[in-house]
Amino acid sequence: MSSGQGCTCPKTPDRRAAWRVVQYRCNFSAFNGYRCTPSRYSGVRCLRCWAYWRTAAAYIETLPGFTDDEPWPPAGWEDPPPAPCP
Ligand SMILES: [Zn+2]
Ligand SMILES: [Zn+2]
Repeated sequence: MSSGQGCTCPKTPDRRAAWRVVQYRCNFSAFNGYRCTPSRYSGVRCLRCWAYWRTAAAYIETLPGFTDDEPWPPAGWEDPPPAPCP
């Protein structure tokens, strides 16, 4: 449970280039009433396979944050990742 659980991309060296931190050390979901709640874990999304997972691993610090410029999953995607914190 340390690196890229959820990401189904090939395990190439540049795999992490597609990873974005969606929720940095916090949680934002229906579970907490859509309020940003501090957490040890961060939410990561892969822009290639659209996987979403949460992790407390150190590589979080090396990933870029998600911005509004990033693409959203294709229309009709069945399991969209949670929205970034407002
Ligand atoms: Zn991926
Ligand atoms: Zn947040």
